[in-house]
Amino acid sequence: MTQPIQALNILGAQTPTSTSSAPAAETSPAEGDTVHQVVIVGSGPAGYTAAIYAARAEMNPIVIAGALDAGGALMTTTDVENYPGFAEGIQGPELMTAMQEQAERFGAEIIFEDAVDLQIEGPVKTVTLDDGTVYRAKTLIISTGSAYRKLGIDGESRLSGKGVSWCATCDGFFFKDQDIVVVGGGDSAVEEATFLTRFGKNVTLVHRRDELRASKIMARRAEADPKLQFQWNSEVVSINGIDKVESVTLRDTLTGEERDLPTSAVFEAIGHIPRTELLEGKLELDEQGYIVVQGRSTYTSVAGVFAAGDVVDHTYRQAVTAAGTGCQAALDAERWLTDQAALTTADVQDPMTTAAEAVPTDESNPISGTDESVSVTLPSGR
Ligand code: NAP
Repeated sequence: MTQPIQALNILGAQTPTSTSSAPAAETSPAEGDTVHQVVIVGSGPAGYTAAIYAARAEMNPIVIAGALDAGGALMTTTDVENYPGFAEGIQGPELMTAMQEQAERFGAEIIFEDAVDLQIEGPVKTVTLDDGTVYRAKTLIISTGSAYRKLGIDGESRLSGKGVSWCATCDGFFFKDQDIVVVGGGDSAVEEATFLTRFGKNVTLVHRRDELRASKIMARRAEADPKLQFQWNSEVVSINGIDKVESVTLRDTLTGEERDLPTSAVFEAIGHIPRTELLEGKLELDEQGYIVVQGRSTYTSVAGVFAAGDVVDHTYRQAVTAAGTGCQAALDAERWLTDQAALTTADVQDPMTTAAEAVPTDESNPISGTDESVSVTLPSGR
């Protein structure tokens, strides 16, 4: 682990409060009682963009980037053709490495470990890593993104890594000149299927409806690809094989009829679920597990905790929209800290309570008029 940057002391609160339950001092000699201004959990376009903005605001951000999946979903994407500024497109990993380096250039510290516990109440939040290190911060930006959705069918877990995969760029090469099935009908499925035609003898896209959800340009490209076949109105009910994938059983969604399709590989590309398991019961999530933010802001239901990227976004889920909300989160965190510092300077006993009392009624505030039951400290609108 790299050495932490000493955080600036806006609130003067260097001692953890009673709401932080993680045993930091014992497990984290390197961190000690340092209280950072912001810790960003997650390292996709949202996390790295938040880091760029926070670093340029001299907040010395710490980014908990993840041990294996640093950089997020784009690390397993090939051509990104719609990120502005790249007329010829750019490879996903190249884009993410550039974002990481840009954040580091301004002083962000990237930690390649997984967060295993978040304590988010009170003026000092804690992030515990899987190596036991505890980071403390006045604000958190959650940008943990989403994980691959699974079909949850017979054979899927057993044959995972033995022909069942969620990443064509990682595993496609192993199925050279073999039959490959891709499941899904969105941009991911089409992108995976198109990529896999480089390797497979045949690639079959299995979709539960009779039209693709994917963007028109990608759908047209896929339908014109001679190496790509489609099984419409079909769902996969089981993945079959002893030590490796040998076939899938498909069910016709219109007639209910079942049939086997021989294949060596099944690539699942059926969307994602938000990675909020560390936050359950700690802040407001919606019924699908996405973090609820207030209005157009990145404020969550807990003061000093902000959220950005796919962990919030049901709808757009683009690298560029994630980057945009990452920027917003850094600005929101910076302004919130400034407001807290102003309140502290005014010799306020309890900054959290007083900040809530100072809620502006200004209608231009992005989060005014939201659910009153949500405890949130609002920006001053400066
Ligand atoms: P998505 O758009 O949510 O599509 C998921 C697909 O999986 C849908 O076709 C859905 O079927 C199907 N599906 C969901 N659950 C299923 C189940 N249990 N069994 C069978 N099929 C199931 O997800 P995505 O393709 O991962 O895309 C997510 C976002 O990223 C989108 O905004 C997309 O545009 C973007 N993206 C962009 C690019 C690019 O531009 N290069 C690449 C990848 C992703 P239904 O259609 O019937 O709902």
